[in-house]
Amino acid sequence: MFEKFPHLESLEQKIIKINDQHFFDDKFQIIAGPCSIEDEAVMDEICSFLSENEIKILRGGAFKPRTSPYSFQGGGITSLEIMKKYAEKYNLLTITEALGFESFDIVSDITDIIQIGSRNSQNFELLKMSGKQTKPVLLKRGFMNTIEEFLFSAEYIANEGNKNIILCERGIRTFEPSTRNTLDINSIAMINQNLNIPIISDPSHATGRRDLVEKLSYSSYWAGADGIMLEIHPNPDKAISDGQQTIDFNTLEKIIKKIKEFKNYNV
Ligand code: PEP
Ligand code: MN
Repeated sequence: MFEKFPHLESLEQKIIKINDQHFFDDKFQIIAGPCSIEDEAVMDEICSFLSENEIKILRGGAFKPRTSPYSFQGGGITSLEIMKKYAEKYNLLTITEALGFESFDIVSDITDIIQIGSRNSQNFELLKMSGKQTKPVLLKRGFMNTIEEFLFSAEYIANEGNKNIILCERGIRTFEPSTRNTLDINSIAMINQNLNIPIISDPSHATGRRDLVEKLSYSSYWAGADGIMLEIHPNPDKAISDGQQTIDFNTLEKIIKKIKEFKNYNV
């Protein structure tokens, strides 16, 4: 199957370079932040926590793909400016979603990594657009896409010239109603075993339940993920969006500690 993706297959190393930093060499990356970019006080608290815990990449949405048009749609440029301000204060890199053509240039000017969300995973024009520029792209798996379709989406980006791609397994829709999605651990193992492209896991969107995020983080690690992206908040019940799947600082500290133990176990 992998011969269908000549650009992905030709990748020799997973390293993503941002300024003078290297990511996805042998270090497991934890990316964390709120679902939607919060107000200044909360962002200050979150960024301070990330920097204390040596997390280098802050996530947060400003242009949000919401199922209902009546849900909060994200704080737009104002939120991006807040994100940038606190990322700079604590020396963090940022990742945020470009939802469409209108927001693409604004997002790509301000952020270090451009996220293409699950719902846009087969928006081929947007994929081509992100392939024509040089910033790293975090491509989330479409929740109705097979692994093959997911990889073709990444191939679209690479085919335009941009090979700085990070894949993200964020769960697929199945017949199981007790979780928001089903984390497809198989895809992580399969991509890890066959390609030199970073693949991270998003247990927050994959489960939709904060009580499951910790265990699915460990499962992702053992399946071969190169990192995890987690929604965090000092007070998850107060998060602007996706509070039900957002973990608090203590839970993230526990996850970091455990993953460090795994690393020791591994050597
Ligand atoms: C997100 O990470 O903010 C998000 C909206 O995720 P997804 O595209 O996977 O639903
Ligand atoms: Mn979310």
